[in-house]
Amino acid sequence: MSRIVVVSNRVGPLSDTGRAGGLAVALVDVLRERGGLWFGWSGQISEEGTYGPLRLHEEGNVSTATIDVTQADYDEFYAGFANRALWPTLHYRLDLTDFDKRLEQGYRRVNERFAQRLVPLLRPDDIVWVHDYHFFFLGEELRNAGITNPIGFFLHIPFPVPEVLTALPNHRRLAEAMSNYDLLGFQTSGHLHAFERYLFEEADGTRNDDHSISVFGRTVMADAYPIGIDANAFSNFHQSTEGADNYSLMRRELDTQKQIVGVDRIDYSKGLPERFEAFERLLEMYPEHKGEVTMLQIAPPSRSEVRAYLEIQRQLEGLSGRINGRFSDLDWTPIHLISRSFPRRSLAGIYRASAVGLVTPLRDGMNLVAKEYVAAQDPSDPGVLVLSRFAGAAEEMREAIIVNPYSIDELAEGLRQAIQMTRDERIDRWNALNEKVTTNTASAWSRRFLDDLTSINSPLLAET
Ligand code: UDP
Repeated sequence: MSRIVVVSNRVGPLSDTGRAGGLAVALVDVLRERGGLWFGWSGQISEEGTYGPLRLHEEGNVSTATIDVTQADYDEFYAGFANRALWPTLHYRLDLTDFDKRLEQGYRRVNERFAQRLVPLLRPDDIVWVHDYHFFFLGEELRNAGITNPIGFFLHIPFPVPEVLTALPNHRRLAEAMSNYDLLGFQTSGHLHAFERYLFEEADGTRNDDHSISVFGRTVMADAYPIGIDANAFSNFHQSTEGADNYSLMRRELDTQKQIVGVDRIDYSKGLPERFEAFERLLEMYPEHKGEVTMLQIAPPSRSEVRAYLEIQRQLEGLSGRINGRFSDLDWTPIHLISRSFPRRSLAGIYRASAVGLVTPLRDGMNLVAKEYVAAQDPSDPGVLVLSRFAGAAEEMREAIIVNPYSIDELAEGLRQAIQMTRDERIDRWNALNEKVTTNTASAWSRRFLDDLTSINSPLLAET
């Protein structure tokens, strides 16, 4: 079996996955299964003008290779074009974009340097799998360097409709760079269709009989590969000490109260202020829930070097303060906002102790928390998932209460319906959701993508 080479912005950790991001956990599984190399950024900043040594680390059949970036790279690539141009555009937030040309040049430069450092590590029969919006140009750089191995790309975040993508300067170059990948994976069929529409409408792409698309003088395959979680591990997490302790602590504190839980990095795409306002509306419209229902929002800060992220944190602190000031009683505080992260094991206990999982992003590639909440429930007394129609997860998880996160009234009614749902209905909905979460797991997802990538020949090879 060919070695897998995974490229993503952040690498690892290979062990202690309890604290790693959703992507990291899914990838460690694939690498362990097939053996491989994981290449990316070390998380370190090197001195200006220097690129530091390759940092190599080996654990069994998996090795990691990481490189440092300079401060200018970090500012222009990561905190710049990736998170101030691509992230907001791909999440439909054109009002928050910064399209400074300098940032785009930095982004292209880092993609080129990563490719240059990766090339000497590649073996002829490696299969390369590049991840996410940090590396749209990496495939093209590898091709320019003469690499003919199969190279796949998976986009973890949404791909917007052409009407939105075309606001990005040089969008055509971005799409052209993407066409260097042999297989392009998207989270949902909606994102896939948006991408295909772009190729047909903006780049004269044409569909071939084998479903591939000819565009920019190349042939690409594209499909939807909704990412999953390690559902088994999640449903067993609550049996771990951390999970069980958190579960008992929460249940003791809550007593007979019902808890609504939200777990999200602080990000404007997650719809957090709307969520707080919806809980306030619920208490206004249905005062009988005062003292009976509480909301716990776990919101670890992220990307605080980007101004929009700091603003949202301040906004949340203001909103929770206002709502608590307005509704609290001596023995009850409606909103509990915790601005730090929890290990996954603890989250499993917290999810299980919560009657409602509230996942209401304005846009999200998939949203793993929605799946984790389902996997962590007690089958005999499960909680209810309230899910935004704009989360990628909503395409599969139709048995959740699907809501429009822009409508505060609809959100409040969704919460009301969840709180009042009978146990029979909760069990029916949960069974249907859990079936999907346990079938389409992280390892099923990666196997499907890699099988498809392996089965198509590199277009470069096909031409010779
Ligand atoms: N997460 C965590 N600790 C926290 C908050 C989140 O481990 O305190 C994990 C969560 O369990 C999930 C991931 O971070 O696996 C977030 O993934 P999701 O797709 O929901 O959102 P993203 O942050 O990737 O946009």
